[in-house]
Amino acid sequence: MSLGELAIFIGIFTFLLLWSGQSLWIYLDARNRSEKFALSWAILALFSMPVSLIVYLMLTRGREERCTSCGLLLEKGVSICTNCGTDVGKVCSSCGSTMKESWNYCPKCKTKYVSN
Ligand SMILES: [Zn+2]
Ligand SMILES: [Zn+2]
Repeated sequence: MSLGELAIFIGIFTFLLLWSGQSLWIYLDARNRSEKFALSWAILALFSMPVSLIVYLMLTRGREERCTSCGLLLEKGVSICTNCGTDVGKVCSSCGSTMKESWNYCPKCKTKYVSN
């Protein structure tokens, strides 16, 4: 095998590794985060790398709110963890972003804060 062939071989191998790795990572990550469409994401990732990875990260990371104590993925607008009862603070009831105690309006979506 010549050096050129070896380089091509390594290139293809690396590509395949990244390709399947990305898909697997998305699947595991989505399952871990109890996303409904974990498998759909993984399949989508197989066909549209790396666009799907970027879209996936944007969609899932943008709305993330986790319990500081147990790490449970919190529902939008909850101020207490439904798993361990930890007070996770003031959360916007509209977009789910974390708010300071003194805030009455959410700076992200401009919605007035209503306690639940
Ligand atoms: Zn918790
Ligand atoms: Zn908001």
